[in-house]
Amino acid sequence: MFDVIGVSAVAGLFFYLLRSVGFVGDEYYPWTTTPRVAAFQATRLTTSTFKIVEYDDIYNEQPFIYAKVFPDVLILIDSGCGGATENPDINVKELREFLETIPIAHNKGEPLNAGGRRKYGIITTHCHYDHILAIDQFANDSVIFASSHSPSFLSPKNFPKNSLCERLGIETPSYTPTLVPHNVSLSYMNTATRLRFLHTPGHTPDELAIWDDDEDILYVGDTVYEWDPIIFPLQGDISVWFDSMNFLIEFVRERNEQNYKRGRPTARINSGHATSMADALDVLLEGKKFLQDVVAGNEPLKNRTESGGVVQVHYAQENGRFSLRCPEALIEEARTDYKP
Ligand SMILES: [Zn+2]
Repeated sequence: MFDVIGVSAVAGLFFYLLRSVGFVGDEYYPWTTTPRVAAFQATRLTTSTFKIVEYDDIYNEQPFIYAKVFPDVLILIDSGCGGATENPDINVKELREFLETIPIAHNKGEPLNAGGRRKYGIITTHCHYDHILAIDQFANDSVIFASSHSPSFLSPKNFPKNSLCERLGIETPSYTPTLVPHNVSLSYMNTATRLRFLHTPGHTPDELAIWDDDEDILYVGDTVYEWDPIIFPLQGDISVWFDSMNFLIEFVRERNEQNYKRGRPTARINSGHATSMADALDVLLEGKKFLQDVVAGNEPLKNRTESGGVVQVHYAQENGRFSLRCPEALIEEARTDYKP
């Protein structure tokens, strides 16, 4: 009788030997290894754009990373928390390995950048750790773009503190960003991306929005989102945030009017956390109104705590859509400075 078990054992040993000497990779013979589980999940948002969620990070940030795929270039908007997780099932922690080797159902079962064929450009919406911790994986062969609004905020001396890496006791990523001016579009490696940089300080001085002129999508980083507290660090400025929100509201209003005449849909918004593909003007207007209510004293204080000598306050709408956590001093400054 044909010895099935014996044949399987011999075949298994054969593949094990091939693998051990590097002739075949794990991806071709997955039954010989544990499954590859990534720290990221990617879903398609448009024909060219994917949302990547780092869904189980140790910081509980669950950041959104966006990937815009061109024929020769892949532009990342932010890079997440660097794959740090306590989930024992996750064994693919590097964002770059995820992009180059993990099949994506929404991408016809192909990785977003199989084999690293496309060059990377990385845009950082701002320098907080949950947006930059994977940049080390790209810094050697890719350009990292950041806002030129406040070079001193990003200087090597201030970077560990302003990225919040110092406070968390983690290593600050090492890279030199290319600082981009306000209201210019990105051409990269002979690709006209039609992505426009917009300086939107407030959450931090280096906060950057990106407008996708082809897809009518506004990327706002941590400036505004729903269902999770909007957070300002000590270096934030709520009055400056209102100025940036007013600029974005006018910017999107103009685009929506042009789109209406051309029979195109209204602009959408992609945030660094929690909100994606929502109506941009609605999120901007309602987010601004909530902070106006807080500054005007029309929102009840939910919580007031002190940590490290800083008094933090928490406000939240009853329906939970918008909420805010920030140092109390920033609210007091805004009450003095901001005239709606
Ligand atoms: Zn942030």
